[in-house]
Amino acid sequence: MRKIALEEHFTTEAMKHYSLPGAAMFDPEQWETSLKRLLDFTDVRLPQMDQYGIDMEVLSLISPGIQSEKDTATAVRNATLSNDSLAEIVAKHPTRFSGFAALPLQAPQAAVAELERAVSQLGLRGAMINGHTHGEYLDADKYLPLWERAEDLGVPLYLHPANSFDTWHNLRGHEELIGPMWSWGVETATHALRIVFSGVFDRFPKATLVLGHMGESLPGMLWRLDSRWAFSSHRGVKLGKERPSDYIRENIMITTSGVCAPAPLLGSLLALGADRIMFSTDYPMEGNAEAVDFIDHAPISETDRAKICHLNAERLLGL
Ligand code: MN
Repeated sequence: MRKIALEEHFTTEAMKHYSLPGAAMFDPEQWETSLKRLLDFTDVRLPQMDQYGIDMEVLSLISPGIQSEKDTATAVRNATLSNDSLAEIVAKHPTRFSGFAALPLQAPQAAVAELERAVSQLGLRGAMINGHTHGEYLDADKYLPLWERAEDLGVPLYLHPANSFDTWHNLRGHEELIGPMWSWGVETATHALRIVFSGVFDRFPKATLVLGHMGESLPGMLWRLDSRWAFSSHRGVKLGKERPSDYIRENIMITTSGVCAPAPLLGSLLALGADRIMFSTDYPMEGNAEAVDFIDHAPISETDRAKICHLNAERLLGL
């Protein structure tokens, strides 16, 4: 079955210094291999895609990317460079690669302009946002124009995990919990809920946020979110729709990146429906073999499998 994968990472020689914060979580040998895979497109990546039957990878600069840059002018310049490099790779292999832009969120107006350029001129399909930008989240007022432009362009923003701005008190003394195993999921789900509860989707009802890692646990929380929201004082927060889950079902899509287990997939199918879930690997941090074997053999209907493997991505990204 045709497969399009949406959370597949790369870097370039010019951008690889931005991936160092992630390197600390790997043993050095593992990181060495990952970095080689991130820099590679044709030696291992394409042959693996052929071997495992992945027709297309939507590529994105590995987290935290440009957002970790401290100098704003450099961030703006490097986002352009990175997106130009990505567009070149896509142009060489247009049936195998597509791409999500990196944005210099340090400069919100420049980020809007770069999204516009990346989509309209470079043919990229949206943007990959790696968590907070120096402590600022996508619900900040200064990012409303970015949501507006994404909605206008009809492209999604994919919210990818990154380290939190500071170390939460309850993680201290348990550094093993920091990273993709645990803290990134909580961090990213919280970021997504900030966007929901700030009313971004009331203002931009056609905007789409994509979450990886089977929705960063949110699909399992819909009933509880609705139930406790209904009984809470709301602390002055108003939403246009009655239930928080209305936004998660209508404005959020999820991918299977890095989660190869039937239980959360079936739970997400029940919670969100088959139209909201898309296949992904999270290459090279996760393996294609396991991701493909998982989705090929998951206990779901062939109709749903086709939606998850390629139809939803084709619709969302206009592929
Ligand atoms: Mn990833």
